Amino acid sequence: MSLKKTVDKYMPESAPTSPPPSQTTKVLRSVVAPWQVEVANLFKQLSSTENGLSAVEAAAYLNSEGANTLQEGAPTSVLKIIAAQFKSVMIWVLLGAAVISGVLGDMIDFVVIVAIVVLNAVIGFYQEYKAEKSIAALKNMTAPQAKVKRDGQVIIIPAADIVVGDILMLEAGDLVAADARLLQAASLKITESALTGESESVEKQSNTLLAADAPLGDRDNMVFAGTSVANGAATALVVATAMNTELGQIARLIEDASSSEGTPLQQKLDSFGRILVWFSLAIVTLLFMLGWWRGSPPLELVMSAVSLAVAAVPEGLPTIVTVALALGVMRMSRRSALIRKLPAVEILGSTSVICTDKTGTLTVGQMTVRALCVAEQSFTVTGEGYAPKGEILLNNNPVNVPDTAALQELATLLIGCNNAHLVEEDGHWQVIGDPTEGALLAAAHKVFSEQAGREPSSFEQRLPKQHEIPFDSDRKRSCVIRRLEDGNLRAMVNGAPDVLLQACTRFYTARGVLPLTDADRARIQEQNTVLGQQALRVLGSAYRDLGQQLPADLSAAAIEQDLVFVGLSGMVDPPRAEAKVAVAKCVSAGIRVVMITGDHPHTALAIARDLGIATDTDVVVAGPELDGISEDELARRASTIAVYARVTAAHKLRIVRAWKANGAVVAMTGDGVNDAPAIEGADIGIAMGRSGTEVTKQAADMVITDDNFATIVAAVEEGRGIYSNIRKTLQYLLAGNTGELLLMTLCVIMGLPAPLLPIHLLWINLVTDGLPALCLATDAIDPDVMKQRPRPRDEHIAANNFLGTMFLTGLLTAGVAFAVYFYSLQTGSEELARTKAFTTLVFAELLRAFGARSETKALWRIPLRTNLILAVVVFLVIGLQVWAHHNATLGLFLKTTFLSLEDCVLLLVISTIPLLILELVKLWQNRARQSTAIPIQ
Ligand code: ADP
Ligand code: MG
Repeated sequence: MSLKKTVDKYMPESAPTSPPPSQTTKVLRSVVAPWQVEVANLFKQLSSTENGLSAVEAAAYLNSEGANTLQEGAPTSVLKIIAAQFKSVMIWVLLGAAVISGVLGDMIDFVVIVAIVVLNAVIGFYQEYKAEKSIAALKNMTAPQAKVKRDGQVIIIPAADIVVGDILMLEAGDLVAADARLLQAASLKITESALTGESESVEKQSNTLLAADAPLGDRDNMVFAGTSVANGAATALVVATAMNTELGQIARLIEDASSSEGTPLQQKLDSFGRILVWFSLAIVTLLFMLGWWRGSPPLELVMSAVSLAVAAVPEGLPTIVTVALALGVMRMSRRSALIRKLPAVEILGSTSVICTDKTGTLTVGQMTVRALCVAEQSFTVTGEGYAPKGEILLNNNPVNVPDTAALQELATLLIGCNNAHLVEEDGHWQVIGDPTEGALLAAAHKVFSEQAGREPSSFEQRLPKQHEIPFDSDRKRSCVIRRLEDGNLRAMVNGAPDVLLQACTRFYTARGVLPLTDADRARIQEQNTVLGQQALRVLGSAYRDLGQQLPADLSAAAIEQDLVFVGLSGMVDPPRAEAKVAVAKCVSAGIRVVMITGDHPHTALAIARDLGIATDTDVVVAGPELDGISEDELARRASTIAVYARVTAAHKLRIVRAWKANGAVVAMTGDGVNDAPAIEGADIGIAMGRSGTEVTKQAADMVITDDNFATIVAAVEEGRGIYSNIRKTLQYLLAGNTGELLLMTLCVIMGLPAPLLPIHLLWINLVTDGLPALCLATDAIDPDVMKQRPRPRDEHIAANNFLGTMFLTGLLTAGVAFAVYFYSLQTGSEELARTKAFTTLVFAELLRAFGARSETKALWRIPLRTNLILAVVVFLVIGLQVWAHHNATLGLFLKTTFLSLEDCVLLLVISTIPLLILELVKLWQNRARQSTAIPIQ
C-alpha cells in the first residue's frame, strides 16, 4: 500500500478551513523514546492520569498543539480553482482574438469577448468551488474516529481530535490514529504493514521496557499511527500525534504525490474531448482554406475560424461533470450513503451484482427469542422486543419454571456466556451490545423472572467471570469461563448449533448427562433444521466442567471440546419491509442480489425466499461445501447460487472473484475486520456505518450509515442517474456544436455570407447552450433508470447511437436556421437574415433542452416540475433574446437588428421543428425497441 493511500485511510488531511495551530503558544509535551520509560513516569511527564485527560485539558491541548492530521499536499485552494478556469487553450485563443479585434479598432468585439470569457470563468468557478466544498464536507463525514478515555469515561471522537496524553481504547478492527504506549494488552495483534512492510500482524504486550535505540519493528510495547488492530484489545497512552508520529516523519520525507487524474469517466471524457478538438480543428482549417480561396478578407476569416473552434469544443464539460458528480454525491449522502471515493459513483451505476449481509441489512436486526428446546422439550416464548417480560409456554400452557431444572440450566448458559446489557429508556427496552446476545438475555430473564438471586447483577457476583473468548464470526461461537458456587470452573459456550455439535460428546437430558450418539446428534440437527425453516436464527448452548484450576492452554481449540450439549434457542429477526421493495427494484434493474451470511442455510433460505432473493430453483451453498468447490467451478456456478450460508470472511473474497470472472460489476458489503480484503477486492466495497469496524469503513468505497439494504439500491439508482445526466449533457452540448458547424460549413460551401458572426457563436456556445446544459447535468433522476439493465462495465460514453442522435440533431437545428437564413436573404438585408438565423438557432437550442432530458421518454412524460430551473432559464434567455431585438444597446453588443414581436413569435414556432422531429424519432425508436425486446418472464 502506498503511503498516500495509508495517509488517506488513517488520517484526515488537514481541512482547508481549520486554522493552523498558533505558533506562539505551542508547548509540545513529548517524551524521548517512550518505550523505555515506566508507565507511571510517562503519565507524569505528559500530565495525564489513568482516567485520561479531562475534556477541558484535551480541548486546551488541541488548541495549542494542533489537530492530529498530517499536512499532506495543499488542499484545493480558491486560487487553484480560479487558475483552472483559465487552463483551457480555447480561452487564451479567445482572449487573443479579443485583443486583435481591439487593436484593429473593433472595441465592441473586444468588450463582448472579454465579458463572455469572464462570465464563463465566474460561472465555472462558482460551480466548481461549490462542488469542491461539498466533497470536502463529505470527506469529513467519513473521517476516522477513535475511542478515548477522558474524565474516566470512554467516548468516541474524531481521530483528528486526539491529543498527547489521551488514553486510546483499542479493539479488533480499530485503526490506531496516533503513536501510543501500551498500558494493557489482551491477545493484542497489530497489522503494521503500512509502516514496516511486514504483512503478518505482530503480537504486542504492555509489560516490557526496551532499550532507547530499539528499532521500530521491535517496539512491541508501542502502537503506531497508520496501523490497525487485527486481534485482541488494548488501552494505550498517546505519546505523539500528527506530524510527530512515525507515520508523520515518513510523510514529511515524501514529496506531495497526490495525483488528481480524475475519475475514469472524467478521463474517458478527456480523451473523447481531445478527439473532438482535432476533428473540429480539421474542419475549421478546411473552412478557412475555402474562404481564403474565395477571397474573403483575412481578418474576418481568422475571427470566424477562432469562434468556430471555440464553438466546436465543449470546454464547459469538465466543470459540468464535476458539478454533476458532486451534486449526486451530496444527494446520496442525504439518502444515508456516504461516498468515500469519487470514482465509485460511476461504477455504482453499472453494478450488476450486489452481495449483501443478511442480519441487520436485509433484516431489521431486532431479535426476539421465540423457541427454547432443551431435554427433549420445546417451549415457546412470548413477549416483544428486548423487554425481559413474557411467558414460557409448553403446549400453549404456562410452565412453572422452578419445576424445570432443564430450562434453568439453559437460561444460565444464555446469561453466563453473554456480553450484552438491556436498558429501559422511556419504557422502551434496548440492547447495548450484540443484538443476538441481547435476545438471549431477554429470554433468560423471562425464564428467571420470579426467582430471587437470578437477576444479572447478582449473577456476576455469584458466578464470577474468569476468562472469555469473544464471539468471532469465523468460529461462530463464544465462550466464557465462570467459577460456579461450588468453586469449580465451567466453560459456557453459545454458538451455531451445527458447528457446536461437532465439539460435543455428551448431552443434557431429564435423566442426567448422557453420551451423545449419532442418533441423538441427528435428532438435534433435525430440531435445528425445523427452527431454521421457520426463518429463526438458532443458537446452541453447551458447557464443559474444567475443575478447580484454570487450564494453562486457554485457546479456543483447547477449551471448546468434549462439551455437554444443553439446548437450542430460536429467535426471529424479521426481514425489513423496505428490503423487499429494494430487491424487487433490483430484479427489474437486472441486478442480481446474493445473500451472504454466517447464519444457518435453512434460516438464510427462508428469509431469502421471503424477500424474493431466492426462488424455488435457487440453491444455497454452505461454507464447508464451498471449501470443496474449485475456483473454476465456483466461477461457473456463481450465477445459480442465490444464498451463501455459514460463510467465513475468506469465502467472501472467493465469491467476489467468482463473479468478477464472469464479467460482473460486484458490490459487496462487510462489517468485521476480516471483511476488509473482500471489500477491497469488490468493485464497490460497502461498509456498514453502524455495525462496521473502522478498518472496514476506511477500506470501503461507500459507507451506508443506516446499515440498510435499501440504501445500497438507492445509491445504485443515484449512480445510474448521474451517469445518464452526464451523458445527456454531453449529447446536448455536442449536438449543439454540430449544428453550428454544419450551418457555417453549408454557407461557406454555397458561397453565402457567414450566417453567424463570431459574437453569435460565442454567445450560443457559452451562454445559451451552457446554462441549459448545467440544468441538464443536475437534472432530477428519472425513476425509470431502475427499469433498464446495468450498463456494461466499460461501455463507451458515446455508445448506443450517441453519434447518430448527435448528427441528426445538428442537422435539424442547422436545417431550420439555414432555411430561415436563406429565405430572409432573398427577401431582406443580410443583417436582418443573420439576426433571424442567430435567433432561430438560439430558440431551437433552448427548446431542444426539454427533449434532451430523456433519451427514451417522450417529452410529455418528463414532468417539468422536476426541473423547474431549466424552464426558468429557457424562459429568461428567450426573453433576453427578444429584448435584444428591441433594445438598441443590447442589439449593438450582440450585433442584431430590430425584429418585430410577430417575427419573434414566428421564429419561436419554427424553432420547435427540431424538437418535434426528435420526439417522433424517439417514439419510433421505442416502437422498434419494444418489438425486438425479449419479454421478461
Ligand atoms: P450473520 O451476521 O451473517 O447473521 P454471524 O457471523 O453473525 O452471521 O453469525 C453466524 C452464527 O453464529 C449465527 O447463526 C449464530 O448461530 C452464531 N452467533 C451469532 N452471534 C453469536 C453470539 N454473539 N454468540 C454466539 N454465537 C453467535
Ligand atoms: Mg453478525
